[in-house]
Amino acid sequence: MNLISQSGPGAAWRSLPTAQQPSWPDQAQLREVTAALAAAPPLVYPEECDRLTERLAAVARGEAFVLQGGDCAETFDGLTADAVTGKLRTLLQMAVVLTYASGVPVVKIGRLAGQYAKPRSQADETRDGVTLPSYRGDAVNGLAFTAEARRPDPHRMRRMYEASAVTLNLVRGFAGGGGASLHQAHEWNRGFVSDSAVGRRYEALADGIDRALRFLRACGGPNRRLQEVEFFASHEGLLLDYEEALTRVDPRTGRRYATSGHLLWVGERTRDLDGGHVAYFAGIQNPIAMKLGPSATAETVLPYLERLDPSRRPGRLTFVVRMGAGRVRDLLPPIVEKVRAEGRQVGWLCDPMHGNTVTVAGRKTRRFDDVVDEVRGFFEVHRELGTHAGGIHVELTGGDVTECVGGGDQLLPESLHQRYETACDPRLNHRQSLDLAFHVAEMLA
Ligand code: PEP
Ligand code: MN
Repeated sequence: MNLISQSGPGAAWRSLPTAQQPSWPDQAQLREVTAALAAAPPLVYPEECDRLTERLAAVARGEAFVLQGGDCAETFDGLTADAVTGKLRTLLQMAVVLTYASGVPVVKIGRLAGQYAKPRSQADETRDGVTLPSYRGDAVNGLAFTAEARRPDPHRMRRMYEASAVTLNLVRGFAGGGGASLHQAHEWNRGFVSDSAVGRRYEALADGIDRALRFLRACGGPNRRLQEVEFFASHEGLLLDYEEALTRVDPRTGRRYATSGHLLWVGERTRDLDGGHVAYFAGIQNPIAMKLGPSATAETVLPYLERLDPSRRPGRLTFVVRMGAGRVRDLLPPIVEKVRAEGRQVGWLCDPMHGNTVTVAGRKTRRFDDVVDEVRGFFEVHRELGTHAGGIHVELTGGDVTECVGGGDQLLPESLHQRYETACDPRLNHRQSLDLAFHVAEMLA
């Protein structure tokens, strides 16, 4: 199908205040790159986005659970087959743990194939008396602290598109090519964690799955659906020059879709009701999500419902709550109550990472116990109100990094320096991710 490119200077968001956009030094280069992206093939198709909307409608109804995860910031150098499959295997292992416990479908969404742009609280960074623009993600500039690297370069958006395409190719190959088959549940653990407590716990669960599969085979052959997995890609829709250039019209319906990923979310720093991001998101048909931090109140949240989902399309809108472990129990209930009182069914996810960032031993980190506690608080709120705790949104990697403290292996602050590799926020490592899944499984059971 030929989707129609519709990028142009007339987009509504361009006349609105739009936070967190880079100041591209060379406008001619910017035009050249966005024109090339506007002529490039889409990365995802409208039908796929609509399918995710349907899955998220089931989540909003309380019939499914979301697992959304991946890096805080993907990097061009970090794109290797091992890194991508490591993240996928981690997510699949977590999903198996959650499905086994809850008995409901788990909708798997990567924070990947497009997570290359970062909002920053400070526009500049100063080191030893030298001030340079902050790193805004590989889509914009480089992490190295030099004037050259930190200069925003629009050609990076072209690389972002290519890196996203390569990543999606790996995802599609893995998801459809047997690597994600439930028969591989043991295999996903290989080289990972079989020597740790959480790894052994997982192995026991995978044994159970093997037995169930043998049973199914004996009863007439395994279902083909077990061979494949449905996996979606998501990222923060931050860089509107990029998103606009990849927006396409579906000729069958005349509707506009972001084709850079299946689901895009609006970040905490860019969700100004009258700003450019909300205007752009209002004009696309993809399922969308919005982060809600501790400053969100019922009064400020309600207007988003009309603005972003006037036709009340089930699955269209998901809120990702990131209040912090100490505040979620107080701040979330009035918001959920008022949204429900409006007769609205949205999805509710918990991001237990971004409200729990602390500095320990000079490094940005998160305590595993705070992460678990925020998820627990989130579940408590929904249980009390009779609403559905619809899923979790986490920053993780398949690697053995040392970025968050605690977890089953009790990673200590003194060890943070060993493999602190993130380009932005601290991620759960493979064991901590699996550990979290077992904790959440207990809340779901
Ligand atoms: C993020 O998800 O990496 C992020 C910046 O989150 P938030 O918008 O919630 O701060
Ligand atoms: Mn982050």
